[in-house]
Amino acid sequence: TVEQKRSDYDLMLQTARFYQHQLKHHKNSSAVIDYVKGRGLSGETVKHYMIGYAPSEWESLCQQVGRNPEQRQQLLELKLASEKTPGRQFDFFRDRLMFPIRDKRGRVIAFGGRVMSKEQGPKYLNSPETRIFHKGFELYGLYEAKQANDKLDSIVIVEGYMDVVALAEQGISYAVAALGTATTVEHMQTLFRTTDTVICCYDGDRAGKDAAWRALENALPYLKDGKSLRFVFLPDGEDPDSLVQQEGKEAFETRLSHADDFSKVLFDKLAQNCELTSDAGKAKLMSEALPMIGKVPSDFYQESLLEKLARLIGRTREQLSAKLVTPKQQHN
Ligand code: ATP
Ligand code: MN
Ligand code: MN
Ligand code: MN
Repeated sequence: TVEQKRSDYDLMLQTARFYQHQLKHHKNSSAVIDYVKGRGLSGETVKHYMIGYAPSEWESLCQQVGRNPEQRQQLLELKLASEKTPGRQFDFFRDRLMFPIRDKRGRVIAFGGRVMSKEQGPKYLNSPETRIFHKGFELYGLYEAKQANDKLDSIVIVEGYMDVVALAEQGISYAVAALGTATTVEHMQTLFRTTDTVICCYDGDRAGKDAAWRALENALPYLKDGKSLRFVFLPDGEDPDSLVQQEGKEAFETRLSHADDFSKVLFDKLAQNCELTSDAGKAKLMSEALPMIGKVPSDFYQESLLEKLARLIGRTREQLSAKLVTPKQQHN
């Protein structure tokens, strides 16, 4: 119900404020603040992203924000607390640096938490899905990016929370992250409703390259005239956070402005697995490329993709057009 939702958002906000308070006042505060500073973040950025600290104790949030039985129950339902045995609840996030995830209207709907000490399980822990949090749809940092920019000419999509906040710290306030999942079609839809240019900038490793390819596949249905999808591939072992700290805003923005167009990435990748000196290889490239080209709604882009493909396999654009299958329904 509407009432329920309002109360959920209120509890999430109280929780974010609790974590913010703990960052300043918990007994581990100075160590956590040292960590934050060591990662190059200023107090301003910490505030803008409402970054906080989940205490190391087992029942801190439960006792502070879950004082009465209704609130305690609600903490469980919003996955901020867990229950080992009935009636015995404990905090879900403990001893973690906390990143509140806000929806496009700025309401806190979930959290991501980074470990402070290595023994404490996975490096990042994200809120599980709840009645107010649907993972594949939300983008970390989108609300903050909208706040910081009157107009979002382009949006950079990165892998991690730290990448988003480190870029913002350096003055690149238009980065967002998918939440520990691949970039979904819904993410791409949201992004292209918000901006004309999406630049994918994943980590410089195998996983980052795979993520880029999935993002490309998922973005094709949203490439209308005027929309642009580009890719930056980072040096091995680097991510946007580590790189922007090394080289600064200008050098990083130069990378962004030299990003590869999706058409280059598409053909480079497909051609990798095809021996283009043989007919068999050319036929393979054609059969893999055509269905992807067919998904692009812009006729203009389709034509230039067909032209590129034709050149690669020694056919004419007209020969290929005839084979193109386009989905019936148009996406927005
Ligand atoms: P850091 O710089 O703090 O070490 P990172 O953002 O570079 O972190 P990566 O290992 O590159 O960390 O992971 C990128 C993103 O993937 C994280 O920000 C997080 O959203 C997600 N992620 C990583 N590890 C996990 C995990 N074990 N469980 C859930 N999500 C994870
Ligand atoms: Mn990585
Ligand atoms: Mn990384
Ligand atoms: Mn990193």
